Amino acid sequence: MPTPIVSRRAPVYADVPDEKWNDWRWQLSHRLNSVEEIEKIIPLTESEKKALNTSGLFRVDVTPYFISLIDPDDPNDPVRKQIIPTDAEITPFTGMMEDSLAEDRHSPVPGLVHRYPDRVLMLVTTQCASYCRYCTRSRIVGDPGQTFSRREFEMQLEYLKRTPQVRDVLLSGGDPLVLAPKILEEILTRLREIPHIEIVRIGSRVPVFLPMRVTQELCDMLAKFHPLWLNIHVNHPNEITKELADACDRMARAGIPLGNQSVLLAGINDCVHIQRELVQKLTRIRVRPYYLYQCDLVEGAGHFRTPVAKGIEIIEGLRGHTSGYAVPQFIVDAPGGGGKIPVMPNYQISASDHKIILRNYEGYITTYEEPMEYKAHDPKTCKFCQSKRPEVGQAGITGLLDSEEMFIKPTGFDEVHDRHGIQHRLKDEKKWQPLGIGAGDSHPNEEA
Ligand SMILES: *Cc1c(COP(=O)(O)O)cnc(C)c1O
Repeated sequence: MPTPIVSRRAPVYADVPDEKWNDWRWQLSHRLNSVEEIEKIIPLTESEKKALNTSGLFRVDVTPYFISLIDPDDPNDPVRKQIIPTDAEITPFTGMMEDSLAEDRHSPVPGLVHRYPDRVLMLVTTQCASYCRYCTRSRIVGDPGQTFSRREFEMQLEYLKRTPQVRDVLLSGGDPLVLAPKILEEILTRLREIPHIEIVRIGSRVPVFLPMRVTQELCDMLAKFHPLWLNIHVNHPNEITKELADACDRMARAGIPLGNQSVLLAGINDCVHIQRELVQKLTRIRVRPYYLYQCDLVEGAGHFRTPVAKGIEIIEGLRGHTSGYAVPQFIVDAPGGGGKIPVMPNYQISASDHKIILRNYEGYITTYEEPMEYKAHDPKTCKFCQSKRPEVGQAGITGLLDSEEMFIKPTGFDEVHDRHGIQHRLKDEKKWQPLGIGAGDSHPNEEA
């Protein structure tokens, strides 16, 4: 197997001793953010200079390691576009929002986003090792003044303690791996003291921006808190270096299952062939592609957006063409706070009462004969059905199938349909109710 190559160092860093270059503290304290500093490494375009000199722009900061991955002669370099702003960032667009995922509305306490029934997103810092120009949380990220206080952390813990349906806590930010190791350890220790929290996850781009931060010591510390999962964020094959591969190897050896979340970005990775190379390289370093996100409707990110169809095209080019393990789910995170919605090509072409018609990735069209005698699953004798956890008000479509609800109504539905009618022609009031919905309800005649 061809191993990823050790990344080049930009020429200005040629004389930095290895022990400094490989020290994450040195990398953090030598981050670049001004025209003067960045121009020593790459010649900047007028548009980039204008953006860097604009006050109030989303924070810029790049580690020497990551900026060295840029080809200085290519103004369209895919790494460059992710971290060096251009004046396109200043341009508003239709649909743009500050908090497009309505995270603040879903926060029972500051920094804790509780949108799904059994899991929460816990924001533990606003700081990152470098700043992605399309950041979905640019309304708070990068601003040290917005960072979370100890009091807020205690409030987050209090909420988690009194909310037993939460079994999965996803630490994010900002980037949890830029926290001082003692603070991160304390957060993990306190979460592990809550018995109903079964798994903890970390979302981090530190392994990509600052792979030297993933020391053996850090991995040993994280391994004390299993089951612990970690998602990294790689968008382009050029980010997969020997340093990143080694960092992932240390985490995988510490027993941490690794995933990748990437964002579909115009001019960076909006190509089936780039994506195929990306996901194959990720699986080689034991990172499983998890999600590919449609770019959010966030301020400053308009020029990175692609049509949703581009994501469908990419999944079409991956599913069947490469290992199933290498195929992420393409996700649109619904504006307004609807959460993650998977979108994919259609594989079902038609259906009858005993057959479905499917097509595969090659366009081969086939039939699958349905069983003629299916004995329905019996919820009355199934232990799992008997002890299911209620998803208070959030059972959604599966709740319709599971007979918890008969319908989902748009707001205002009852008012629109209330024509002040009186019931007539029904002799028996009970016939207003359906006789039974779903497999869970037995037919009244059966009881007799
Ligand atoms: C993405 C996200 C999660 C985790 O979603 P999974 O699909 O379980 O990975 C949880 N909470 C919020 C608010 C999120 O945005």
